[in-house]
Amino acid sequence: MLPVIWHVRETALPIVRRRCPHCRADAHTPTGTFRVNANGKLLDVWILATCRSCGRTAKLVVHERVRVTTLDRRRLDGYHRNDVDLVAAVLAEPGTARRNNYRLDWDGAWELVGEPPTSTCRVTVSPGRHAEVSPLDVLAAGLGLSRSRITRLVKVGGIVCSADLRRPTASPFTVEVAAEVVAEVVDALAAEQDDQFSPTT
Ligand SMILES: [Zn+2]
Repeated sequence: MLPVIWHVRETALPIVRRRCPHCRADAHTPTGTFRVNANGKLLDVWILATCRSCGRTAKLVVHERVRVTTLDRRRLDGYHRNDVDLVAAVLAEPGTARRNNYRLDWDGAWELVGEPPTSTCRVTVSPGRHAEVSPLDVLAAGLGLSRSRITRLVKVGGIVCSADLRRPTASPFTVEVAAEVVAEVVDALAAEQDDQFSPTT
């Protein structure tokens, strides 16, 4: 069975799902920056995010009145430099989510890198650094089939997935695609190509 590798690549920061106290909408876009406030030897650090509905800035607590000397030097430097990779990493820490009562929504913030299967194969899906994505979304992106069709194929054994289809995960998982499904995938992807070039009527 041919081994194939798909990578989940993060392309943006995730949406922060948290109720806006101003307009009650529940989607915030991280600005990709920290705010650091020094008060003597104590620091407050926040991640800033903007409500997608009313534009109000939310401050997500990273540290509250923490002693500067207790912080890792490199991390502290990242806060000051607005290191966007550090923003993603801190947002993905369960402690930050708990403290600020949010969950992350990676919808639209990742892409799948890899080739579609051309014969019976075992696909290893290697996760992004932080993104939790549902295997069903990964399969839809990688195979060009609808979610309902994939669910059906998993039910009848045409696709075997090592992970729970609907549970977002940041761990690797494998997918086995049977020959008859590969034929369907090739057709679906070819049709997608045709669609792109078909004249508008
Ligand atoms: Zn708002």
